[in-house]
Amino acid sequence: MSRPGGVSGQLSDRQVDLIATRLAARISGGPVDRQTSAVPRRATVSAPREALGDGVFATVDDAVDAAAAAFRALDGMSLDGRKKIVASIRESMLENAAELARLAHTETGLGRIEDKIVKNRLVTRKTSGTEVLTPQAVTGDNGLTLTEYAPYGVIGAITPTTNPTSTIICNTIAMVSAGNSIVFNVHPNARACSMANVRLIHEAITRAGGPANLVTAVADPTIESAQELMSHKGVRLLAVTGGSGVVRQAMKSGKRAICAGPGNPPVVVDATADLEHAARGIVAGASFDNNIVCTDEKEVIAVESIVDELLERMGKNGAYVLNEQELHKVTNVVFTEYPGRRQRGTVDKDLIGKNASEILARAGITSHGDPRLIAARVTNGHPLVWTEQMMPVMPVTAVPDVDSAIELAREAEHGFGHSAGMYSRDIDALSRMARTINTSIFTKNGPFFAGLGEGGEGHTSFTIASPTGEGLTGPVAFSRLRRCVMVDHFRIV
Ligand code: NAD
Repeated sequence: MSRPGGVSGQLSDRQVDLIATRLAARISGGPVDRQTSAVPRRATVSAPREALGDGVFATVDDAVDAAAAAFRALDGMSLDGRKKIVASIRESMLENAAELARLAHTETGLGRIEDKIVKNRLVTRKTSGTEVLTPQAVTGDNGLTLTEYAPYGVIGAITPTTNPTSTIICNTIAMVSAGNSIVFNVHPNARACSMANVRLIHEAITRAGGPANLVTAVADPTIESAQELMSHKGVRLLAVTGGSGVVRQAMKSGKRAICAGPGNPPVVVDATADLEHAARGIVAGASFDNNIVCTDEKEVIAVESIVDELLERMGKNGAYVLNEQELHKVTNVVFTEYPGRRQRGTVDKDLIGKNASEILARAGITSHGDPRLIAARVTNGHPLVWTEQMMPVMPVTAVPDVDSAIELAREAEHGFGHSAGMYSRDIDALSRMARTINTSIFTKNGPFFAGLGEGGEGHTSFTIASPTGEGLTGPVAFSRLRRCVMVDHFRIV
């Protein structure tokens, strides 16, 4: 199981590494070491509150007006012009992936810089572009009917604190490829890195001959400005990425809303699985950016006959495995409110996205080195199984057989329909779970970041719309279909 970082793209990994190292050195005066996370931590976040311009606006009204003018300008451009704009955005985002990762980490305090670089590169390279907007032509005795993907206009996009820059990059490539303009209302806790990101995108677009303010943001975003954006008459479509609250709010707006909500992805391991492979994959996947990615593995459900060996192998592959007493201590620091069995708990927000060593230290447990993950055997009803905690703390719970595992996974996923996976060599069991769990992404025999296209095939998205059904959103999700009919003519056969 390799660590993430090997996606294919226009530049080779070596070239990208060189760019990342150069940028990090420029910012910090020191080199990046992606393996040990030895990136110097503090960087100057370069977006003072009062700085406006380059896509950043004081009010929602101003941002929507500017984005509307930019949409009209883009609408008048050729498709080739649009492709050049998207190519320029990709080039700039690859060049700035490390810098943006550092800014996001410094500001939010969440996750790991080296994993954030992976996320930024992944969305830059593997978010689909204009190439997926294939028109459809139907011909017959009555002539020709053409169906094309058209833009909506101004999209209001709400982004999370967990993947601030990756979501902005991903949404921008997909939405602009479809011919739209955007107003971002970002999470207030990720304001500065998001403004820096929007400015870089603005520069990349104008450098490629695109209109100014095609991608905009509200300078001082709040929940109130998000709600103003949701009800603004100049906004044609909403794209919301976050927890249940913002999804509910967007669905009440009366506008078409593409909603990417929360998850609690289970991973099932049965007795036929390659346990070494499963242990390595689970540690790599569940520790990715300290578990703040919505698709990361959040609970392991293993059959009783292999659970001890699985935990032992997870311990040998980078996890710190808790004993019963230590589990008690960690549970006490993770939850501020301890719920009953099979209930979601309230987590200590200060520990979200923190390194495992920091969580262990808070619990009074001494650890050595930098364990990627904390793992513990727990009962089926333990709140760690039922809560989307977004910390590198992985509950492993046992059930008698594979069918019980699939059923418990279905319940622990809470019907979000988000992400799940399984390690097994039993193709019947794999198919049974894939059908039963009914999630937007199902990963077989690999870490869940493979389901995002990192070490797996296919395009990526960091806006995975399960509540509204678009799944991994791309340019098609941000397009409306338009039909043009020519009666009696233009059939050439
Ligand atoms: P969050 O819900 O706190 O915030 C997300 C965004 O919504 C922010 O910009 C915030 O300001 C805004 N917001 C929150 N409540 C709002 C309301 N009532 N009205 C208007 N705007 C509101 O989420 P977060 O902590 O930033 O991100 C983590 C959550 O997002 C997790 O639950 C995670 O699973 C989910 N998420 C899902 C996806 C996906 O693709 N499905 C991707 C990333 C994160």
